[in-house]
Order: sequence, then structure tokens, then C-alpha cells
Amino acid sequence: MTKLALVLNCGSSSIKFAVINPETANNRLSGLVECIGSKDARMKWSKDEGKKTKVDLPNVNYHSALQQIVELIKQDPEMADNIKAVGHRVVHGGEKFTKSALIDEKVLNTIRDCQALAPLHNPANIQGIEVAKQAFPNLKHTAVFDTAFHQTMPKHAYLYAIPHELYEEHKIRRYGFHGTSHLYVSREAARILGRDINKCNLITAHLGNGCSICAIKNGKSVDTSMGLTPLEGLVMGTRSGDIDPSIHSHLVDTLGYDIHKVTNLLNKESGLLGISKLDSDCRAIEDAAAEGHELATLAAEIFCYRLAKYIGSYAVAIGSIDALVFTGGIGENSPFMRKTTLKWLGILGFNLDEELNNASGKNSNGLITEEHSTKALVIPTNEELIIARDAVQLANS
Ligand code: ADP
Repeated sequence: MTKLALVLNCGSSSIKFAVINPETANNRLSGLVECIGSKDARMKWSKDEGKKTKVDLPNVNYHSALQQIVELIKQDPEMADNIKAVGHRVVHGGEKFTKSALIDEKVLNTIRDCQALAPLHNPANIQGIEVAKQAFPNLKHTAVFDTAFHQTMPKHAYLYAIPHELYEEHKIRRYGFHGTSHLYVSREAARILGRDINKCNLITAHLGNGCSICAIKNGKSVDTSMGLTPLEGLVMGTRSGDIDPSIHSHLVDTLGYDIHKVTNLLNKESGLLGISKLDSDCRAIEDAAAEGHELATLAAEIFCYRLAKYIGSYAVAIGSIDALVFTGGIGENSPFMRKTTLKWLGILGFNLDEELNNASGKNSNGLITEEHSTKALVIPTNEELIIARDAVQLANS
């Protein structure tokens, strides 16, 4: 009998859902409810990767949104009866979780303890778990953490150069995120290269609305660009990534901002959007740059230069590069951003093959570099598949 997993990714105003066969990687159902709590709330879904359906759910609350998802699943009894496990994406697992965990009261309390580290994300994840446990009381629920893959980072990579008590007493350190994506594409890269992942040195760049990069030595994360929060590191759609921390006090002192306004500015008004004064969406930036929009061109240049600098420093972290992997919406779909980044990296032996890059590696098993170059690959990420696999595996254990 086929075993399916329901995968839930509960954000503050959206719930992404999918019913996945972890063996075949087939998506039986996938969709999302977005703008929860507002008049524009709606649910969109497709079955068996077919045509999308949409219904408006004005002012739906979180609990009812999840009920709608349950009702949708129950409309297909054959599928519903074969769901054997529920997998939940949880953003922050702190230092407590180095791998996925079956959710019992103790695990749920530990996730609650991590709330202070991720006040924007973990509360929604917890709410999702609580409501889903009521909806599916007979199924086992598993938490899959964005931070878990990076728990192998050594101290010299995860500690900030600030008073050590802040780590000892308040756990202020770098945690890293997008771990499930870095894990998935690194395993795929090893498979494509025909290599044992435990002997593979990779740099994986997840470039979506949020962006992070990971240094992977012998299959393990040894450094990553996001920190205590997902704000650190690369330039992103609306996030600044690395800045001088004194900019905070400078804005407070000179412009009279309060700390919340600064945090909002760095998270929501910066990055591609802030530099270009135009858009956070990479496609819009590329289109505008192609038409000669100066600030859009600058935004793309800053994005790629920062990324290239990180790739250079991660070569130091791993010693030798078996492959650089591009993933996420930008990494998978933007020949322009990949090319602009790799232009800086001749020093590491990267020589782009323009034709393979323009086809995003689709005809070359992901490869976008010339024959004797250090390898760069494009690999579509699939975080939901990792969550589905872990959920079914733990439910059976
Ligand atoms: P999220 O981080 O929200 O999951 P995605 O991984 O879907 O986001 O990535 C969204 C980003 O990918 C957006 O900046 C979008 O413009 C970009 N993107 C998607 N398709 C393309 C494309 N064909 N060319 C350039 N950028 C693209």
C-alpha cells in the first residue's frame, strides 16, 4: 500500500501544504492558503501537479484555514486513507534539535522554548502543529527543523565575537536556516557527481526571496551565512544581509528611529527592493536592468558581488570544491545572476558554459560549467520531500 505524508509549512499568514509519496517523490496534492485573517484570504491548490484551482476564503482564521485543507484532503478518500504521517516545517530548533523529531508534549515544549530565538516564525509553526494534531489525532507528527542541518558547524564558525556570556547564558550564536534545502541539494549533488556524500566538499547557494549559502565539508555543514536570525549574510529580496551593526545606533541617533523601525527597515525595506527602489522580485530587477534602470543594475551587482565574496570565503572553509550548487527561485531560474556571480570567481577555477547556463543545466544533469572548470550545478530544491521522508520514516520507527 502506498504511504503518503501530509507536509505542512505554517507561516504567520499562510499555510503551505502538500501530500507527497516519499518513495516516488510524487506530489498528490499541493497548495497554499494565503493572506490568512484578511479579506483577501484564499486557497490555491493543484492535484497530481495538474491545473490550479482557487477559492476565496475572506477573513478565514488559522484554525478554519487548516480545516479547509483537511476537508480538501477528505474529498479524495483513497488519498486521505493513505496518509500515514504529518511532517511540519519548524524554523528554529535552537541547539536542542540536530535532526527531525517525532512530536510529543516534551518536544512541543522544547520548540516553545526556542520561541524567543524566532519570535516571527516559531509561534505560527506551533499553532500549526496544535491545530493539525487536533485534525489528525491518530497520525504521528514530526517536526523538521530549518536549523538542524547546521548543528554540525564548529564553534569558530557559529560564535560571534561578543562577550561569551551572551552565548553561555542566552544562546546568542549563529544557527543558520534553509537547512533542509542545503541538505537536499547537497545529497542530490553527490548523487549526480557519483560521489559518496561523506567525502564530498560542496558550496550550496539557496537563492529565493530569502537567500543563504552553506559550506559543506564531507557532507556536513561547517558554515552558513544566516545567523541568529535569517537577516544575516547575503543580500535578499527585502533583507539587507550583512551590515555594520553600528548602523542601528546611527539611525537611532541621527534620524530618531526606534529599534523596531530599524529592524523593520533591514528586514522588509532593504535588499534588492531597498537598493533598486523598485521591487524585491529578481525577475522585475532583471527586466528593469535590461532596460537600463541604473538602480536595478546596481541591486543585481551588489547581490552577485556579495554572493561571490561568500563563495570565496567558503572555499577557505572547505579546502577544496567538488561543486558549487545553485538552488531556490533565483538560483534555479536566473542565468543572469549565476553568470554575474561566476564572473568574479575565475580565481577558484570556474568557467561558465554559456549555453548550459542559459538552459539552467536542464540538458546536462544540472552542470553549467565547461569541461575542465570547477563544477557548478543547478539543482531544484525539494524541502517538502525531505520533510515527507522524515515524517514517514519516524512514524514507522
Ligand atoms: P521563496 O524563498 O519565497 O520560497 P522562491 O524560491 O520561489 O522564493 O524564489 C523567489 C525568487 O525567485 C524571486 O525573486 C523571483 O523573482 C525569482 N525567480 C523566479 N523565477 C525566476 C526567473 N525565471 N528569473 C529570475 N528570477 C526568478
